[in-house]
Amino acid sequence: MELDISRIKEFNDDELKQLIEYDESINQDLIKVADAVRREYYGDKVYLRGLIEFTNYCKNDCYYCGIRCGNRKANRYRLSKEEILMACKEGYELGYRTFVLQGGEDGYYTDEIICDIVSSIRSKYEDCAITLSIGERSKSSYKAYFDAGANRYLLRHETADKAHYEKLHPDVMSLDNRKRCLYDLKEIGYQVGSGFMVGSPYQTTECLVEDIRFLQDLEPDMIGIGPFISHKDTPFKDCENGSARLTLRMISILRLLFPYVLLPSTTALGTISPTGRELGLQAGANVVMPNLTPVRYRQQYELYDNKICTGEEAAECRGCLEKRIEAAGYRAVTDRGDVAR
Ligand code: SAH
Repeated sequence: MELDISRIKEFNDDELKQLIEYDESINQDLIKVADAVRREYYGDKVYLRGLIEFTNYCKNDCYYCGIRCGNRKANRYRLSKEEILMACKEGYELGYRTFVLQGGEDGYYTDEIICDIVSSIRSKYEDCAITLSIGERSKSSYKAYFDAGANRYLLRHETADKAHYEKLHPDVMSLDNRKRCLYDLKEIGYQVGSGFMVGSPYQTTECLVEDIRFLQDLEPDMIGIGPFISHKDTPFKDCENGSARLTLRMISILRLLFPYVLLPSTTALGTISPTGRELGLQAGANVVMPNLTPVRYRQQYELYDNKICTGEEAAECRGCLEKRIEAAGYRAVTDRGDVAR
């Protein structure tokens, strides 16, 4: 059966499945249409988000993740408020107008501490967006961070298939709670980002279709996807990595289904393929996340093996990414980059 990509929004599950699995012949077409849609909504702009990985302590034990609490080999670190503010200052000077604070689920950072950090950033950088990515918390906590000045929240659902979710996480975690968090965040008024890993262990094409259906229900402002990459000190150490090809294909499919969405070309994609991030932009992504974490901690935020960009200072990282963005045919901009809808 021939698939008519212009009908993608009306595709049933079988058609989507077929599109995801389709042979190479349609790949270039798919990428071309996705790029056209991206240019229609965002032109050649690529938004920069300064990423601050502020703690690698985590109470969770996700089987895929290198900073899971069960990994006794991980060297743990936490950034102080002063270190976080220093990183923001450096980022601001480099032109970043979004700061993303990401970390493991670390109880050391109580609501009070998070609110204090957020409001300090907010008072210094009125024109910037503050994005949090600190996992599952209560609705009242999310509301407190929002009131303190946070605007956006990233929380990948990881997989929308319940049985699959349970293969990736211990029993104490649940897909229902993860979804609850996402709907709470939306209700509070955050710009919300969700997403999933591509090629995680036990993932089937049906799981990817469910991911799309869940995202269609949630209607997030941002969607983050990247290939699964194994980490040597996790239960999934011998599992095969996700592929760049399928990740790129999913980026294009997501761009067509969610034309307005902010979609990063991720570090994980750049890790499995040397030109992964450039290809991601060409497939429909419009965001990159240069690293602002102090270099001395970078290697310790090791979610997966061989993570790139752990050695260079923020300014170098900025230069390198800008060159890559230009080489791919786009333009790095310093706007806050709110969602276009
Ligand atoms: N604690 C936060 C941040 C998690 S780390 C939260 O729960 O949202 C950010 C993302 O890295 C995760 O959502 C996951 O999708 C991704 N990740 C973790 N381990 C990975 C691996 N081995 N390969 C690829 N991506 C991984």
